[in-house]
Amino acid sequence: MGGYRQMVTSVVIVGSGFTGFECARRLARLLRKDDVEVTIISPVDYMLYTPLLPDVAGGVVDARFVAIPLAGSLKRVRAIRGRVDHVDLQAHRLQYTDLEQRTRELSWDRLVLTPGSVTRLFDIPGLAQYARGLKSTAEALYLRDHVLQQLELSCLEDDAELAQARRTIVVVGASYSGTELVLQLRALANAAAKQMNFDPAAVKFLLLDVAEQVMPEVGEKLGNRAQRVLRRRGIDVRLGMTLNEVHPDHVVLSDDSRVAAHTVAWVTGVTAAPLIETLNLPTENGRLTVQTDLSVPGHPDVFAAGDAAAVPDVTRPGMITPPTAQHATRQGKTLAKNVAASLGRGKKRDYKHHDMGLVVDLGPHQAVANPLKIPLSGFPAKCVTRGYHLYAIPRGVNRWAVALAYLTDALFARSVVSLGLSTQSDAQFSSSEGIPLPQAG
Ligand SMILES: Cc1cc2nc3c(=O)[nH]c(=O)nc-3n(C[C@H](O)[C@H](O)[C@H](O)COP(=O)(O)OP(=O)(O)OC[C@H]3O[C@@H](n4cnc5c(N)ncnc54)[C@H](O)[C@@H]3O)c2cc1C
Repeated sequence: MGGYRQMVTSVVIVGSGFTGFECARRLARLLRKDDVEVTIISPVDYMLYTPLLPDVAGGVVDARFVAIPLAGSLKRVRAIRGRVDHVDLQAHRLQYTDLEQRTRELSWDRLVLTPGSVTRLFDIPGLAQYARGLKSTAEALYLRDHVLQQLELSCLEDDAELAQARRTIVVVGASYSGTELVLQLRALANAAAKQMNFDPAAVKFLLLDVAEQVMPEVGEKLGNRAQRVLRRRGIDVRLGMTLNEVHPDHVVLSDDSRVAAHTVAWVTGVTAAPLIETLNLPTENGRLTVQTDLSVPGHPDVFAAGDAAAVPDVTRPGMITPPTAQHATRQGKTLAKNVAASLGRGKKRDYKHHDMGLVVDLGPHQAVANPLKIPLSGFPAKCVTRGYHLYAIPRGVNRWAVALAYLTDALFARSVVSLGLSTQSDAQFSSSEGIPLPQAG
């Protein structure tokens, strides 16, 4: 690194998700008059608006519309594509792998760790090999294409049992993202059935969860409403149930029953990004322990937040904030303020945010939402849900494109096309999370 850079104070942000993106954007503004270089390092060159991934899987919204490019959006921020593999907290250096699998180094004066989370997997035979998650555009596109391809193949199948297996889709995880996914795939399958001339009821959906309630995050009342929508749309909801085995053409459920199915989506929750474990620092439920000002105890130059960190929830003493975009974005703002304060600009503050509720899109004409704890369902909830997403997407062009996609979906039948942009291996749990680890051998 040249002499110029050594003179400049360097803030390095790891991860370009909700937290890192918001932190970088604010920090560049706060420090615009100072001799500080802000760098964001991430395997991808965008911030992914994950709440619309079910819409991407269902073919409502194009994948590009939910990816906010760092170039152009983050002014005065240096963006590096790379996966951080090692952090030396004493020497203030980190090591990362670039797009061409080269190992490179970077030094920092302030480090902000926001690597988010990855899909939580369990030791279920065949799960990693045959099931797919919903954390990336690769996974969302793969699921859409795979469902359509299986429906196309089912129309050519002479054996009725094989045809039914291709028309059976299992989604595991009945929290909001799994529920949104199953309903979006239902709408896609309905459109496909109509356009391919077969009975939509022939496509079977199973939604499984070990919990005894659908979407416990929205409370019992709205959870029950969501369950009624699911049943009306013909989704077979099985609670207190998970998978024991996954095979290419069938699954074995935890009650030992066998279901012939060629599509399995695994949306059961997340765990902190693998980088956190390599730090050898205290964690809580796998998330990095931080103080209320989002600094890492014992390391005043290191900050962390978002899904990767156990941020104390001062509004609910003794608890940590849930891994949601709502908290992640706001924590990004607090991070920016506190990193700037650590460099002599402004005052540090504790992270404090009262949960404002959730919005859950339940496919055509349906949604549930509890903005400011007011329970809504049906058309009002649909307006609030879509309005909220349009407001929350952090870039005008993407907002515009998503609004047009919503309008197109309201006026026309869904396009039944599988472009094959994402292969089965692109959508594997680890590959879909950015720069893949080098293959052994
Ligand atoms: C399908 C789905 C739907 C969701 N819907 C909602 C919703 O409706 N409402 C809501 O509030 N929340 C929702 N969430 C949760 C929300 O997406 C997360 O809480 C939020 O993304 C967390 O933000 P983050 O910045 O901590 O992490 P992320 O957004 O996951 O970003 C982490 C970033 O770090 C990068 N990274 C990871 N490891 C490294 C590394 N070693 N080196 C460099 N970079 C790295 C990643 O590539 C990524 O860019 C949803 C999540 C999913 C998956």
